[in-house]
Amino acid sequence: MSILLTGGAGYIGSHTCVELLNAGYDVVVVDNYVNSQPEALRRVETITGKKVTAYEADVCDKAAMDAIFAKEKIEAVIHFAGLKAVGESVAEPLMYYRNNLDSTLTLVETMVKYGCKRIVFSSSATVYGAPDFSPVPETARLGCSNPYGWTKYMIEQILRDWAAAQKDVSVVLLRYFNPVGAHPSGLIGENPNGRPNNLMPNVLNAASGKVKELKVFGGDYDTPDGTCVRDYIHVVDLAKGHVCALKYAAEHTGSEAINLGTGVGYSVLDIINSFERSTGVKVPYVITERRPGDVPSYYANPEKAAKLLNWHTEKTLDDMCRDSWAFKSKNPNGYEA
Ligand code: NAD
Ligand code: UDP
Repeated sequence: MSILLTGGAGYIGSHTCVELLNAGYDVVVVDNYVNSQPEALRRVETITGKKVTAYEADVCDKAAMDAIFAKEKIEAVIHFAGLKAVGESVAEPLMYYRNNLDSTLTLVETMVKYGCKRIVFSSSATVYGAPDFSPVPETARLGCSNPYGWTKYMIEQILRDWAAAQKDVSVVLLRYFNPVGAHPSGLIGENPNGRPNNLMPNVLNAASGKVKELKVFGGDYDTPDGTCVRDYIHVVDLAKGHVCALKYAAEHTGSEAINLGTGVGYSVLDIINSFERSTGVKVPYVITERRPGDVPSYYANPEKAAKLLNWHTEKTLDDMCRDSWAFKSKNPNGYEA
């Protein structure tokens, strides 16, 4: 029996492949490589010394998904596949709704056909919108501010409704906070297409001289140092959370939304300081105007993950920065030679 990872060649999927293979699971990946490269999976095999079975297909393609489920014995699915760029989702909302919702419906219908009843879904803290307080518990009010976020919100609802209707189904909705870092081997990491939006890829570009300086969006927020605060989580800790979620899904039915974060908030300036301390490399930066839509501060309440999944983060902010830099230094052009 195998675990199917949709979008398994991507940033979080590839790190989860490693943790699953190390934990003794067999892994099957389906990815259309719209935002990733097959090379990531070859490197997963190098790190683990184990084989990954990979299919190049769109999860929206019903016939292709049927063929995969017919060939492989899939005991559970981790559903990473999706488009994830907030700005692009505002410009191209239909593309986001089509890809993210259609892939989920096609996947779940195929699971139903083949009697596969366990799914772990990549949701996001973005479903909390602008949280009223931190640490944010799973019971916090939900609401989104962009089409990407709404796709996560809607998919959560679709999967919850499925679990409510079919009593032997198990759904775990993992709400990630801010994933950063890379595998300590430096072989796999985040490899964004085009100009990145997120903080860490921009820190790396400034540190490597690819851009002149990091733009820090806003220095006058009501936070300890005036810059925004987020809950950054090392991608290896996050990946291990999926292994725990799979075990939980095997032992429980119904649906649960669970935060995956550290429970600690760090500011943009904290990240810069940690990066410089842990790598010895300077990050030139300038404080600019605020980015529209940014929430000043939020971080997770991770108690539910500790209680239900017996999962705790282990890595520090310095680990996140050091490992990000190691991947960037070894792979200045990402997975391209
Ligand atoms: P990623 O883009 O690196 O990985 C997503 C993978 O899905 C890619 O390999 C892409 O090629 C694939 N994909 C997309 N649409 C597909 C389709 N229709 N058929 C087949 N493959 C498809 O992103 P990631 O950072 O690894 O994120 C994984 C999941 O976690 C996404 O659903 C994302 O929305 C969610 N998430 C990510 C973050 C983050 O900051 N990275 C935060 C919260 C939630
Ligand atoms: N940020 C920044 N400069 C950048 C990118 C991001 O100052 O080039 C800030 C951003 O304003 C936010 C934090 O870093 O406060 C995290 O941003 P990111 O886009 O990574 O995550 P999100 O906003 O989705 O939490």
